[in-house]
Amino acid sequence: MTQKAPTLVWFRQDLRLHDHPALQWAIEQGGPIVPVYIWSTEEQATGSLGSASKWWLHQSLDALRTSLEQRGSRLIFRSGDPLQELNHLAKETGARQLVWHRLYEPYAVRRDTEIKQWGLAQGWTVHSLNGSLLHEPWEIQTAQGKPFQVFTPFWKACQQKSVQPLARALPKSFKTPVRWPGSVSLSSFKLEPAIDWSAGIKACWQPGEAGAQQLFRAFINGAIERYQEDRNRPDLAGTSRLSPHLHFGEISPRQIVNALLHHAAGQSLHRQKQADAFVRELYWREFAYHLIYHFPHTVHQPLRAHYQSFKWNRNPGHLKAWQRGRTGYPIVDAGMRELWHTGWMHNRVRMIVASFLVKHLRLPWQDGAKWFWDTLVDADLANNTLGWQWTAGCGADAAPYFRIFNPTLQGKKFDPDGHYTRQWVPELAQLPTHFLFEPWSAPEAVLNQAGVKLGQTYPEPLVDHAQARAEALAAFAALPKG
Ligand code: FAD
Repeated sequence: MTQKAPTLVWFRQDLRLHDHPALQWAIEQGGPIVPVYIWSTEEQATGSLGSASKWWLHQSLDALRTSLEQRGSRLIFRSGDPLQELNHLAKETGARQLVWHRLYEPYAVRRDTEIKQWGLAQGWTVHSLNGSLLHEPWEIQTAQGKPFQVFTPFWKACQQKSVQPLARALPKSFKTPVRWPGSVSLSSFKLEPAIDWSAGIKACWQPGEAGAQQLFRAFINGAIERYQEDRNRPDLAGTSRLSPHLHFGEISPRQIVNALLHHAAGQSLHRQKQADAFVRELYWREFAYHLIYHFPHTVHQPLRAHYQSFKWNRNPGHLKAWQRGRTGYPIVDAGMRELWHTGWMHNRVRMIVASFLVKHLRLPWQDGAKWFWDTLVDADLANNTLGWQWTAGCGADAAPYFRIFNPTLQGKKFDPDGHYTRQWVPELAQLPTHFLFEPWSAPEAVLNQAGVKLGQTYPEPLVDHAQARAEALAAFAALPKG
């Protein structure tokens, strides 16, 4: 009996084995399975993947390879132009079937469409599936058949749709090809930094599917109980920290929603409300993907076109001070240092530091997005674009331009005892909480006692809040009306 032709399973941002519809589809074809990861030319281009993301990707690929090997399979690594590499792999293995999960980043949509057309023209079966969203961006529409630009109606429309069931349980082993195609080594991708700066990040994270599941289980057995109350508090472990795992597809949002449904069954109303609040945040992620798919230009340009003419400042010194966590505003500096050290920042603090960059310093949101892109382990084009355009006031359902976060009040409100700020700005640790978020207002004696010398041990504020606010309001008000 002749063996069925192999199926190539092209892994991308879906670095897991469970709830993996593409893998399930490949298993159903009945032939051998060749799992492949291609370090593509698009990703190799300078700046297309940040340093922190590269570090994560290396660890995650390593974990996926191990899981596949435990099932008697392999992960074939290739580097270069995906179309060419897939063509070579098809020739080497005799594969005539190719399957992947869809990506929604503009470059990936263009590339994948081209590969699909090319594969079909060769007589292959090319199958793409949804592996990373609860709903496809084109399934959710306004009554007029248009994409949504406001979150709440988007979310309500999503709730009218059902979520696809989970993929079937995995077999213990996969069918393997008679002869495996060649693979380059993972280290040849050079994803890990040449000079090892990753100690802080390493200590905080366990990339890979097992790490994602462990974190999720810990969250639903713990912090979810107080998610609504604590999710805005950077001093508490009040959120799931699943964002990098979700970005790399080590856990799927379907798995999360499914597990919460099971977990919520028979639970108290309080518990269900907490789960609903958490799922609502997952829908912000869905909204971000909806937007990037329908408005791909927003990666670089404001969704609200009239913002294009905003007169941004150009001040490399200010940008550098912000990046290094030396703005003189303690909550801003705490966030920027947390980011540098751990590759992650709490959502509330992301909003504060982003608002400070675009409103107080009036530096372009694209500069901030770029820094986040390079330093976040969860750097995600859709979420980052939404977050920055929202803060700058130029995106979908954005904060109005006149809402300018006061970094002192934000610190006092969301880090009430100062634990978070003291952790990341230790040179202010001895200041009483009353002055912690505005050290410039502390009497000389208090500063002396806390060992703080403004301008020496800790910077003076880069700008005065009231003045920066007034200037920002005037600059935004001068924009032509949209
Ligand atoms: P939880 O509160 O546990 O939420 C669960 C999941 O829901 C998150 O993992 C995330 O996937 C999703 N989510 C939650 N809040 C948001 C949100 N506001 N927008 C979109 N999705 C959300 N998130 C990224 O994943 N990558 C980014 O590059 C990114 N850049 C951002 C830039 C700015 C300026 C801002 C304001 C926000 C950005 N976010 C980004 C969104 C948000 O800050 C993070 O998703 C969140 O902090 C992750 O922490 P968590 O997993 O503990 O969140």
